[in-house]
Amino acid sequence: MKPFTYTRATSPAEAAAAVARTPGAKFIAGGTNLLDLMKLQIETPAHLIDVQDLKLDRIEKTKDGGLRIGALVRNTALASDETVRRDYGVLSRALLAGASGQLRNKATTAGNLLQRTRCPYFYDTNQACNKRKPGSGCAAIGGFSRNLAILGTSDACIATHPSDMAVAMRVLDATVETARPDGGTRAIAIADFHTLPGKTPHIETVLAPGELITAVTLPAPVGGTHIYHKVRDRASYAFALISVAAVIQPGGRGRLAFGGLAHKPWQVDAADQKIGSGAKPVAAAVLAGAKTTSQNAFKLPLVERSISAVFAEARAQA
Ligand SMILES: Cc1cc2nc3c(=O)[nH]c(=O)nc-3n(C[C@H](O)[C@H](O)[C@H](O)COP(=O)(O)OP(=O)(O)OC[C@H]3O[C@@H](n4cnc5c(N)ncnc54)[C@H](O)[C@@H]3O)c2cc1C
Ligand code: SF4
Repeated sequence: MKPFTYTRATSPAEAAAAVARTPGAKFIAGGTNLLDLMKLQIETPAHLIDVQDLKLDRIEKTKDGGLRIGALVRNTALASDETVRRDYGVLSRALLAGASGQLRNKATTAGNLLQRTRCPYFYDTNQACNKRKPGSGCAAIGGFSRNLAILGTSDACIATHPSDMAVAMRVLDATVETARPDGGTRAIAIADFHTLPGKTPHIETVLAPGELITAVTLPAPVGGTHIYHKVRDRASYAFALISVAAVIQPGGRGRLAFGGLAHKPWQVDAADQKIGSGAKPVAAAVLAGAKTTSQNAFKLPLVERSISAVFAEARAQA
């Protein structure tokens, strides 16, 4: 690990301004991803600004009947919150499908959205990786790509975003709230928050330098049956090969979002409109434009089977 300095901020505006004016500074929340990356010298921040004292750890109802989740709310607290379990069950289930109890006790809402890919070449500093070192190439293309993306990829990167929580946030149409270094704030739809790799896979979100996530808001509950279906190599403590976050309403309506397929949670309006027609047409719409390698082509039929499993579970619960 390279030497770094450390301070704790006391207000969101101060934290954002401090990161923006300090070259090589980064925020740290639970540290469960950032510290691992620092130990491997994949991230080498010169200065860490700890955001834990910012009082962003509350879950509150919004005026329009939705829920505002502070950026510092721990994954365990969010998954077990009574309102989340009752009205946003897909979010609680996605969180509980991720990591381990110990990690969820430390991991925060903002840190989870901003965790970095689990592509094996990103973690191996002897390998070419455009995300870790822009312009160095991509060892995954032509290499070990079993876990990697089949949608929204580019010639520069085929990594997936690993967050389970983000997939549930996408199906619920969450909004990310931020504080900017100039003292302003903004609200970003989760659909627009993570970016596709294109020629700049090292840029993963639309956040500007120093922009701090302060909260994530959810719209008013929409009812329906909430399901999070995660397919992985081990029964627990493993990232998704494919995941499906689903809110299924009676009468063939609903919404689906997918993890493990792309650089961001994947949601397709045309697929949601076919939910009443069964898994096959939904999968065809989701997978439009898919580009596979010989190692991850198994994800194509797995998407359809996962959708089938979700529909069967929804029928059983209805
Ligand atoms: C062994 C292991 C297994 C895991 N399995 C899963 C899994 O199955 N599913 C899953 O979804 N996750 C999994 N995780 C990932 C885990 O959920 C993340 O490490 C965690 O959510 C990150 O949150 P954190 O608060 O610790 O973030 P940190 O490590 O503190 O920060 C992560 C990033 O977010 C930035 N950041 C933090 N807070 C803010 C803020 N408020 N505003 C702007 N930037 C901010 C930091 O600068 C950093 O770049 C696993 C992790 C490990 C180590
Ligand atoms: S897929 Fe992306 S993260 Fe993985 S090696 Fe290629 S550029 Fe790096």
